[in-house]
Amino acid sequence: MKLEANRVYNFNPGPATLPIEVLKEAQSEFLNFNKNGMSIVEISHRSKPYEEVHAQTKSDVLELMQLGDDYEVLFIQGGASLQFAMIPMNFASAEHKGSYVLSGTFSSNAYKEANILGVGEIAASSKETGFHHVPNQSELKINPDAAYLHVCYNNTIYGTEFHYIPGTNGVPLFADMSSDMLSRPIDFKKFDFIYAGVQKNLGPAGVVLVVAKKSLIEKSRDTLPTMLRYDTFYKKDSLYNTPPEFCIYMVGKVAKWIKSQGGLSAMAERNAKKAKLLYDAIDNSNGFYRGHADKDSRSFMNVTFRLPNEELEKKFVAEAAANNLCGVKGHRSVGGMRASIYNAMPIEGAATLAEFMEQFKNHNS
Ligand SMILES: *Cc1c(COP(=O)(O)O)cnc(C)c1O
Repeated sequence: MKLEANRVYNFNPGPATLPIEVLKEAQSEFLNFNKNGMSIVEISHRSKPYEEVHAQTKSDVLELMQLGDDYEVLFIQGGASLQFAMIPMNFASAEHKGSYVLSGTFSSNAYKEANILGVGEIAASSKETGFHHVPNQSELKINPDAAYLHVCYNNTIYGTEFHYIPGTNGVPLFADMSSDMLSRPIDFKKFDFIYAGVQKNLGPAGVVLVVAKKSLIEKSRDTLPTMLRYDTFYKKDSLYNTPPEFCIYMVGKVAKWIKSQGGLSAMAERNAKKAKLLYDAIDNSNGFYRGHADKDSRSFMNVTFRLPNEELEKKFVAEAAANNLCGVKGHRSVGGMRASIYNAMPIEGAATLAEFMEQFKNHNS
């Protein structure tokens, strides 16, 4: 697909690029949504047109994940960061702690919240070795009394991703999938609780998608304030208070777009192609580019790499931007570059960046 006039290839990690078709459709409906004479952001959350959007979004998400009605979709505000606190509040205790796999910044932040409550423990960590890999199954020390095992499936900052589903011996499996939700088919049934801040791969900032087993949600702690309990969202269909309608509407459009493109297997195929273009550019650069992630933990969503020195890194960012390749500067904790190539990034975007990398290397080595 050719780049629209006045648009750039946007490699930002989040908020991030969205499908152009979705943006255009939302634009075309903005003044008059569904012949109501008003926009989606002006309409009551108790009205029929909104309720249809809400219900359709939920059912499309479950359909894409191939989950049945033993799972519920919840829409919660406060970002993935609030989930870091709500999860241990609702499910962990001093006797049954939340057990965390530390594989990067966000999993460490999640553990930190459980620790504030005195209910967190560490199942494995790749911190000591610089978060170059995701701990593998043999590294996991799973406490059979744990309330859950929490993993961050894709480490947005370090550019590493789980390529296996952790076995837990019956301990409920929880996953932060903020940056790879709906990017490939996964056996989601193996998970008890999945959440994703939608601003990476699914929509604008403002809502978190929680997909969890109903039987688990029902165990929400009843001593918590209403808005901190998952069962409040479940019992009231995420309409206890005013939901972020526009965000949910956009997630619904993105889910519909994913379906129209061929679903999660089509996404996976495209995402693998994009990732291969960039990892090949790294691997074939004779060491000019150095990938952060160990090969067996490489992310399909965030490709992280360094250049020979910081001066060249600055130059790379500036020249890339001049070529309509924006948002490639890495997170300060890793340094270097990060190209986020979520579902909505066209293959042409990754191909253009790979070509730019090759030329930049030739001019500067
Ligand atoms: C961005 C991100 C978060 C934080 O999300 P907020 O919505 O900003 O709180 C958490 N986890 C992962 C994996 C992320 O990529």
